[in-house]
Amino acid sequence: MAILSNRARSLKPSPTLAINAKAKAMQGRGISVISFGAGEPDFDTPENIKKVAIRAIEEGFTKYTAVGGIDELKDAIIHKFQRDNGLTYKRSQILVSCGGKHSFYNLAQAIFDEGDEVIIPAPFWVSYPPMVSLAGGTPVIVETSEANDFKLLPEDLKKAISPKTKALIINSPSNPTGSAYAKEELEKIAEIALSHKLFVISDEIYEKIVYDGFRFTSIASLGPEIKERTIIVHGVAKTYSMTGWRIGYTAGPDEIISAMNNIQSQSTSNPNSIAQKASVEALIGPQDEVGKMVAAFAQRRKYIVNRLNEMKEVSCYRPTGAFYVFPNFCSYYGKAYQGKRINNSTDLADYLLDVARVAVVPGGEFGADPFERLSFATSMENIREGLDRIEKALEELR
Ligand code: PLP
Repeated sequence: MAILSNRARSLKPSPTLAINAKAKAMQGRGISVISFGAGEPDFDTPENIKKVAIRAIEEGFTKYTAVGGIDELKDAIIHKFQRDNGLTYKRSQILVSCGGKHSFYNLAQAIFDEGDEVIIPAPFWVSYPPMVSLAGGTPVIVETSEANDFKLLPEDLKKAISPKTKALIINSPSNPTGSAYAKEELEKIAEIALSHKLFVISDEIYEKIVYDGFRFTSIASLGPEIKERTIIVHGVAKTYSMTGWRIGYTAGPDEIISAMNNIQSQSTSNPNSIAQKASVEALIGPQDEVGKMVAAFAQRRKYIVNRLNEMKEVSCYRPTGAFYVFPNFCSYYGKAYQGKRINNSTDLADYLLDVARVAVVPGGEFGADPFERLSFATSMENIREGLDRIEKALEELR
């Protein structure tokens, strides 16, 4: 009998974390590596949030809480949805988990059975397909194109639907492309989802990191019917630079939230009590630090997109949100360096790390091999130096 379960053997470690680990190990050996691998803001958690956490410790708020989160935090989340999205939820429709990733995991465990199909537009966040598969579901990947701003077209969605389709995942703004859906585009998707009785899993974790005055719309806000079939996955990690605090949350129909609560009660129990208190402050306290962070990201985005588009045979989509660019490097596939051929996004990422000392994440991991993902959650100085190195390394390919 095998030591490991089929489940464990089918899993690969998260590639984004793996690339960061390799870059960090090289840095540890004294090698100057510029990393574009980060999936987290490079800013500190705002002071007001940290203070609330410190007070929580001092006041002894250090014990188990209700499994699905304290009422105070659920109320703050309810307030956020009302304030930002015009959405009304009850406490029984909110679950707090140990990060947005955990929220999605619980959700997949709660709603998917063996054979259920889940439509995932590519490029996708790396963790969706494995989490769907772990729950027994079958990921159905639907391609999108750079020419259509990496957005799922209604006709492509319709073609992918089968009698087994249970849900569709929408991630707007998207990791890795930064593409975000306008209200009218979501209306078309909602109409199709409703007519086929699909659930929509809407990952809105990058909601607040948007550029050029883009107005974010939650698909759940388009009407009571689609709200009934939408589960929003969200969290404080990206907006408030709180990736290490591990607080995510879900909003959706009572029955689903209650099942997720049961799963959480038999696995992790409540998320960290101190981080829950801090998240209340994050959601309902002053929001000005968010604006400052987004302004810094906007400046870097402008620079990085322009520089990449100026590089020979590279095209780079201008992201609407999040803090990633997803440039197309496929013109370089087939070329070689010192006799070693670059065949795909992994080869190119390896080449850039080994030769240019720059860490990027291969697009293939996101279901889109012509591309590499670069995070601009790093200083302007690093961005300049990193892009210089990439440009030089590309010129050396023949
Ligand atoms: N959803 C998307 C699209 C993400 O990029 C991430 C983090 O990288 C998450 C969810 C999960 O974030 P966390 O678990 O840190 O809250």
